[in-house]
Amino acid sequence: MKKHNFSAGPAILPAAVIEEAAQAVTNYENVGLSLLEMSHRSKEVATFMTEAEELVKSLLGLGDDYAVLFLTGGASSQFYMVPMNLLGENETAAYVDTGAWSAKAIKEVSNFGNVEVLASSKETTYNYIPKGYEIPRNAKYLHITSNNTIYGTQYHDYPETDALLIADMSSDIFSRPFDASKFALIYAGAQKNLGPAGTTLVIVRKDILGKIERSIPTMLDYQTHIKKNSAFNTPPVYPIYVCLLTLRWLQAQGGLKAVEAKNKKKADLLYAEIDRNPFFEGTAALEDRSWMNVPFVCKNKDHEAAFMDYCTANGISGVKGHRSVGGFRASIYNAMPYESVEFLVELMKNFKPELVA
Ligand SMILES: *Cc1c(COP(=O)(O)O)cnc(C)c1O
Repeated sequence: MKKHNFSAGPAILPAAVIEEAAQAVTNYENVGLSLLEMSHRSKEVATFMTEAEELVKSLLGLGDDYAVLFLTGGASSQFYMVPMNLLGENETAAYVDTGAWSAKAIKEVSNFGNVEVLASSKETTYNYIPKGYEIPRNAKYLHITSNNTIYGTQYHDYPETDALLIADMSSDIFSRPFDASKFALIYAGAQKNLGPAGTTLVIVRKDILGKIERSIPTMLDYQTHIKKNSAFNTPPVYPIYVCLLTLRWLQAQGGLKAVEAKNKKKADLLYAEIDRNPFFEGTAALEDRSWMNVPFVCKNKDHEAAFMDYCTANGISGVKGHRSVGGFRASIYNAMPYESVEFLVELMKNFKPELVA
């Protein structure tokens, strides 16, 4: 039996995508080759890479002033590629510290220029998104983490700024419509909400590049990859193909507006149960609750092992909370069916600690 996969990442993919991806491993579109053994210079691969780029732009409503790249090195490599490509030695970048991933991004900046951390929710284990901070006039860019995978907080309004706006959207990209044209650069590791591990989506407004003095290693220069359509070196062909399948699936769902409605329905169902059920409580501030990652704990810590066992016995996978938060975290990304959320909610309703323990 297939388990209900609530893992934070690598994470659930649509069942139809998995099936098509499996087919491509044995025989890619009846070419007579496995996609795993096909050249990245082949017509087939070049064609689907272009389709993937176009679909990203059309789903987000972006024009040709943006480039779409599929890179390697994870979202973690974007933590340094962003300042390396955009921040001059004497310039200042502004960051908001909303979690462990933001903190890791912040750590890289001083290799290239100055960093100012405008606000942080670290003292309360990152259980809210800071608001109302001043964005310094001289900031070259403002970096945010749109969804905090570990703590289950998410921006529901993005900050207004004249500085270039940059976001790590690893765990909520394509989960709802937003004005992507407000962003100068967006990046996302594929393995949360888009595809398998192995590629990182970067969406960048081309006019912001090539403006600083620094000499940038070829592979770390966004312009290298723009010129070569993400194929300067051998790209991760198969992960990119699986991302394309997900992008097609997103479009077939009716685009991001339709996806948003489904995501909201799933999140509402789960949060309603967390708030109703006397055994559980949520850990994130109500107004900043994420629609993608839903952390919760047992009011009585002694019940947690029993609920974990109950989940495991019923085919629920990946709900253990991150060690820094404890308890549980149900990741309910785009691909998560409503029925699986319903199933988890049923378990929560039926949970009787004294019977299971
Ligand atoms: C998982 C995650 C990362 C790290 O991604 P890698 O691809 O493993 O480097 C960065 N940011 C956020 C928000 C994440 O959820």
